[in-house]
Amino acid sequence: MQGIWVTELQTPSLALSCRVKKTLHREKTPYQELCIVDTEAFGRMLLLDDVIQTTVKDEFVYHEMIAHVPLNTHPHPQEVLVIGGGDGGAIREIIKHASVTRAVLVEIDARVVAAAREYLPEIACGLDDARVEIRFEDGIDHVRRFESQYDVIIVDSTDPVGPAEGLFTREFYQNVFKALKPDGLFVAQTESPFLNGEFIRRVYYDIASVFPIARIYLATIPTYPGGLWTFSLGSKQYDPLEVDPARIPRIPTRYYSPEMHRAAFILPPFVEEIIRPEEERE
Ligand code: SAM
Repeated sequence: MQGIWVTELQTPSLALSCRVKKTLHREKTPYQELCIVDTEAFGRMLLLDDVIQTTVKDEFVYHEMIAHVPLNTHPHPQEVLVIGGGDGGAIREIIKHASVTRAVLVEIDARVVAAAREYLPEIACGLDDARVEIRFEDGIDHVRRFESQYDVIIVDSTDPVGPAEGLFTREFYQNVFKALKPDGLFVAQTESPFLNGEFIRRVYYDIASVFPIARIYLATIPTYPGGLWTFSLGSKQYDPLEVDPARIPRIPTRYYSPEMHRAAFILPPFVEEIIRPEEERE
């Protein structure tokens, strides 16, 4: 292979490589190794500990789907919390909603936000909106301190290792439940159905043990392992399957639409199998 390539080892036996035009930034933060490269295939790319977080070319899928599905499931979301999400992409989508009065970003690593502002301005561009508050702290501690505060909580985290590990536990979901208003809901990115089936199953049943409504939905994200990604949603009252597409406001998006909102919850049988109750499994 000619030139310089960046490689994410997605599993010990599977890798994604992209040819690099230029390395723009590299540093070791107190939390992780942060790298921004410009790639031929996906444009500028943020990696943390050699794991692809986002790229300029396909970020819209992830950020639109993690933000608009929960925000359009809630009839009037005002206070929204994002845990992680230091690149700013989820915030950029959240502030497209006129009902939102306050969007709090709780990111553990201030360097991610600084690097995104400098090298990924098209993703970070919403961070200066007057409704946005940025706090550099651990999201696990943040939700412990609040009660009945947020309409929607979005967990836009790294994979469930290191500082993000505690964002995928039943105890964390209980604290999220407490931090939500009586009709609140939350969404988390929950990995690949091709590669992380057992993990997705565990998270789904943990969420279902805390929230009356638990759902999984899907989006196609080429730079994430397996290409197909899951999001898991827990809700106190509003069911994303019952949203009337005619009620969803038309906001400028490239992947999300009222029709995609519905379609994303239609699971192929192999994904349904992941969350099938034990007694119904073959
Ligand atoms: N879209 C991405 C993905 O799925 O690969 C996630 C992007 S965003 C950059 C993830 C962020 O979560 C990172 O910047 C990381 O520092 C942050 N993070 C990890 N654990 C955290 C925690 N416990 N509290 C707050 N932020 C956390």
